[in-house]
Amino acid sequence: MKAIYMDHHATTPLDKEVLESMMPYLTEHFGNPSSNTHEYGHIARKAVEEARKKIADLIGAQSADEIIFTSGATEADNLAVKGIAWNNRDKKGQIITIATEHKAILDTVSRLEREGYEIAYARIDEYGLIDLDHLASLLKPETRLISIQTANSEIGTIQPIAEIGQLAMQHKIPFHTDAVQALGKVDINVIRDHIDMLSISAHKMYGPKGIGALYVRKGIKLTSLIDGGGHERGMRSGTLNVPGIVGLGKAAEIAKRDMKQEVDRLLILRNRLADGIDKQIEHCKLNGHPIKRLANNLNYSFAYVEGESLILACRDVALSSGSACTSTSLQSSYVLRAINVPESLAHCSIRFGLGKSNTSEQIDYILELLVRNVKKLREMSPLYDLARDGIDIDKLNWSKHTH
Ligand SMILES: *Cc1c(COP(=O)(O)O)cnc(C)c1O
Repeated sequence: MKAIYMDHHATTPLDKEVLESMMPYLTEHFGNPSSNTHEYGHIARKAVEEARKKIADLIGAQSADEIIFTSGATEADNLAVKGIAWNNRDKKGQIITIATEHKAILDTVSRLEREGYEIAYARIDEYGLIDLDHLASLLKPETRLISIQTANSEIGTIQPIAEIGQLAMQHKIPFHTDAVQALGKVDINVIRDHIDMLSISAHKMYGPKGIGALYVRKGIKLTSLIDGGGHERGMRSGTLNVPGIVGLGKAAEIAKRDMKQEVDRLLILRNRLADGIDKQIEHCKLNGHPIKRLANNLNYSFAYVEGESLILACRDVALSSGSACTSTSLQSSYVLRAINVPESLAHCSIRFGLGKSNTSEQIDYILELLVRNVKKLREMSPLYDLARDGIDIDKLNWSKHTH
């Protein structure tokens, strides 16, 4: 039997309706949307423009032209941040973000820092929520961009993007948000929320992998990363991935259509799991914001139990832990470190990412597995003994710990 899937922040399965919408464009409608001398090209172009419209509808964009297709959200994040920065190559300037962003943002701003740009990180609290006063205090005439994610993929914390947008607008600074984890779960409207650029990934919302988009508000100019035929208003050259785009469009349409109902359903499942953990397992801590949080996310640290061991013990459920095992060390999640979760607890964390296929029976099943295995692993844990003997396990050197 295949494991029950509870890792929807990593990726989601392809929706059947989405696959069906894509099929004709993988077969008979194979034309290049840039070909304007024959019907093959026209059919492909019409499908692309319909998809663009559906994506614009999902985020409340004024015009479909403001959607630029990319290979995914990694590229969309790169295009937004480097695109703005490289418009100011001579004068450089400052870019503001937060320490819990996706690596597609963090690694991009690190590169820009090496190129001479100033990178400022707005303060976040213990739940990962941005400190708006600190953000405001960082702004200066040389600020080129504010890039703050809508929701975090590990701890689910949802940022006050409308307030950030308001602040950015007042200071006439472009505001970009990586909304990958939030689309289909959080009501986003780029006009109401004053968002200038927004990153989208199809495979995080039941669409295909390898396709995404960047919303770029009219008037925002970006230096392109990829040059060629001048596709996508010159911002992203390359023959369009027509089946992928059609799939992304369909996924966006479904996300909008089903959002309310699916969020209500996810909240019931999520709260059932959280209540069960809180009632049945002691010494556990919820990471991330208790309320301002994605409906499908939970992130718990189970003290004295290594996350990786717990995941192995619960192997018929596909889960993700807050630490990545390398050959010589166990590195805890940078997101948990950024919100000051002690090392001892960061290593004990598990992320639950619920999605469309999950049922209340599956929630009860994972609860039962957790209760049983946390108890079993704690009985075998030297740390549990140390803690009971009054030794501060936070002082132990985890970075050298191997297993
Ligand atoms: C998955 C993810 C990305 C990267 O998206 P790809 O389409 O896989 O490149 C970027 N940001 C966030 C928040 C993500 O969860």
